[in-house]
Parts: sequence; C-alpha cells; structure tokens
Amino acid sequence: MTISSGRPRTILISGAGIAGPALAYWLRRYGFTPTVIERAPSVRGGGHAVDFRGPVHLAVLDRMGLRDAVERLSTGTGDWWQVDTRGRRLVRMPAEQTGGDIEVLRGDLARLLVEATQDGTEYIFDDSITEIADGTDSVQVTFERGTPRTFDLVVGADGQRSRVRALTFGPDETHLKHLGLHTVFFTAPNVLELDHTGLVHIEPNRLVAVYSARGDTEARVMMYFGSPPLAYDRDDLAEQRSIVARAFTGAGWQVPRLLELMATAPDFHLDSASLVKMHAWTRGRIALVGDAGYGASSLSGMGSGLAVVGAYVLASELATAQGDHRIGFQRYEDTLRSYVDGCQKLARNAAAFMLPSNRFTAALSLRMQRHLPFLADMPAKMAHRAASAITLPTYPS
Ligand SMILES: Cc1cc2nc3c(=O)[nH]c(=O)nc-3n(C[C@H](O)[C@H](O)[C@H](O)COP(=O)(O)OP(=O)(O)OC[C@H]3O[C@@H](n4cnc5c(N)ncnc54)[C@H](O)[C@@H]3O)c2cc1C
Repeated sequence: MTISSGRPRTILISGAGIAGPALAYWLRRYGFTPTVIERAPSVRGGGHAVDFRGPVHLAVLDRMGLRDAVERLSTGTGDWWQVDTRGRRLVRMPAEQTGGDIEVLRGDLARLLVEATQDGTEYIFDDSITEIADGTDSVQVTFERGTPRTFDLVVGADGQRSRVRALTFGPDETHLKHLGLHTVFFTAPNVLELDHTGLVHIEPNRLVAVYSARGDTEARVMMYFGSPPLAYDRDDLAEQRSIVARAFTGAGWQVPRLLELMATAPDFHLDSASLVKMHAWTRGRIALVGDAGYGASSLSGMGSGLAVVGAYVLASELATAQGDHRIGFQRYEDTLRSYVDGCQKLARNAAAFMLPSNRFTAALSLRMQRHLPFLADMPAKMAHRAASAITLPTYPS
C-alpha cells in the first residue's frame, strides 16, 4: 500500500527515541517523506532496559522485519531477587516480570531503529522545534538552529515532556498525572558483582533496584521514592542529587554505597512517575505518538511496546486514508484508545502497591510473597494481558 500523488507527504517527527524512528520506518514504507529532528547531538547508546512482551509487541517487530535484530540485542538478564538489609535473597522475581519476552537497553534499540530507517529518512540532530503554526494546507515550523520549514504534518515523538505537546496542547501540568512517586536512574560499575541478575530492596516509601548489564561489565540502578510532585530546577543536577540523597537517608542494604556512586554517575536522571493523560492525541495537522501522547511511566514496563504499536497504527491509518490526516488521525485514536487505557491502568496499580507505606505493610507484603508463591507470577501475567489487549488491524502491506 502506498499513498497516491497529490496527498500529504512530508511529515516532521520530533524525537529520535523509540516512537520517532519506528514511525519513520512505516512512513517511508508507505511512501511518505519523514524528517526526524532530535535535540540530542546523536543517538545515545545504552541506558536502562526496556522490554517487549506478548504477541502484539512481537507481531509489530515481526512486521517490521526487525525481531531477530532486536533479539540479538537482548540483555540476557535472568530472574531478579528481592533482598533484605543483609542482602539475603528472599523472593524470586521471574525474568518474564522484569524483562518481558525480549529485554534490550533503550539506547541500543533506538540506535537499531535509526540505522534501519536512515535510507529514506532525513535525520537532523542537535536541534529542536520552537514554534508550530498549523495552517489550512500545511504546518510552518521554526527551529532553534535551522531555518524555518513547511511540512504537511507534524508528529511529536519527543517523550514524556514533549515540546510538540506543550506547543500544541498546553503546558505539561495539564497532561502529566503524578503517580505519587519519583524515579531515579543511573549507570554504575557492577560493584555488587551481579551475574545476569537484578536485586531489589524495599523499605517503607522507597525501593532500590540494581541489575547488571552489558555482560555484567556495568550495572543499572533504579530508585523509587514516594513523594508529592517536587519543584526543582530541571537543569540543576546537584540539587536533584541532594533531593534523592535526602529521600534515601538512613536506608539499609547497599543503598549508601549506591548513593556514593550516584554522585559521579554520568547519566543520572530524576523524574516523577507520571502518566500522560490526554482526551485527544491529535489536533489539526499535528499528532502525538509514544510517551508524548500516552506515556505509561516506567512502572508499566510498557513504554517501548506502546511506542512501536502506536507508531505502526498511526502510519498505517494515515496510509489507509491515502494521507487524509482527518480520517487517519481519527482512526488512530479509535484503534488505540482502550489499549492505552489498559496499559496505563497497569502503571496506576503498580504505583499503588509498589511502595509499602510503613514497616508493618512491608513485612506483610514480604510474608505473603514468600508463602504464596503464585503471587510472584501475577505481575507478569497482568502485564502480558494488558500488552496483548488489542487486535491489530490487518493493514495491506
Ligand atoms: C527509569 C525508566 C525506566 C523505564 N523502564 C522501562 C521498561 O522497563 N520497559 C519499557 O518498555 N519502558 C520503560 N521505560 C520507558 C521507555 O523508555 C519509554 O517509554 C519508551 O522509550 C517510549 O519511547 P518514546 O520514543 O515515546 O520516548 P523516549 O524514549 O523518551 O524518546 C523521546 C526522544 O525525544 C527527544 N526529545 C525530547 N525533547 C525533544 C525536543 N524538544 N526536540 C527534539 N527531540 C526531543 C529525546 O531526546 C528522545 O530521544 C522506562 C523509562 C524510564 C525513565
């Protein structure tokens, strides 16, 4: 299926994460001309682990012809363990729960997608959109560095704090729904000598997880702490590190050691765990895809799967509508809405149960997990169900 001549063709995508290049992949294939603009100077490799789970995610990778390539990037991480303050392994967390069917490092996946789409896609790095003027026949776009340009359509694939969303639909506060906790992520040396595994330590109102990566040569650290929305300077990493250090003061296990490593981590990242909730993901000639439109937070483990499914549906509906964005955008919304709601519900439930509020509920939860082993499989089953809860339309190829 390709679009007929005379229909909208040029599409600007903001963001070369997962959703952006995945969208470019399909747009090229359907005969559109995508341009991707990314504010970072290049695609960064590595990062935290993201996963694909269930037949829907895998079907999209299959239809892209990239499943084998993604599998070759697999982290190979096995089961994780919940540990106590002395590091004793108490509860097993099955690999399927933490890593789905295929787990890869986010940056490796982004690089693969960019490389797979380089032919037929114009990539512009180190630049960003500053203004969008949506007209009757086209969209005028202004950039931080480049000269202004005109496109037929613009798509925001620029993540949880999307610039395209802010310019088109209003400020972040209107669309980000805080889930009551903050997430911290950084890379560290594998000081715990983990062998293809991860360890999780939970205390009232805080959780720390460490897993090995890159054949155990490195570790990734994730920390969660309960708090209302926090106001801080998003460019001031020193201030953010002190917020995290304060939140984990007095924590046991290896946490003091990990906080020391946080001080020098090159990729320290603090953000709120939030859902992106919107009544519509499109307006005029502008659309949102992936975290920008329906971020499900890292708690759902569903962000990358949603990004590739969303990109596939958006491009295919546009092509099916022969480039008529009014029809294509509406079908995109109709096809995905309940699927997205299910994935976001998973994150809300995880947020509610993830951090015990006091020592009593922490001990009770641990006791139940140890004595009712079937509980260990429940999160993976629920995630699998949510990830599979859509019948993908059969689009002509
Ligand atoms: C700590 C953490 C853990 C996670 N764990 C998981 C997990 O286990 N499983 C899972 O599936 N997902 C996980 N996720 C989520 C996952 O990374 C994203 O949901 C997924 O990558 C969605 O892709 P995206 O392309 O929509 O957004 P992103 O991957 O965020 O990509 C957005 C891109 O846009 C660029 N950009 C941003 N602003 C601009 C701008 N103004 N102009 C141009 N470019 C811009 C960014 O640099 C980035 O390259 C996790 C996220 C975090 C933070």
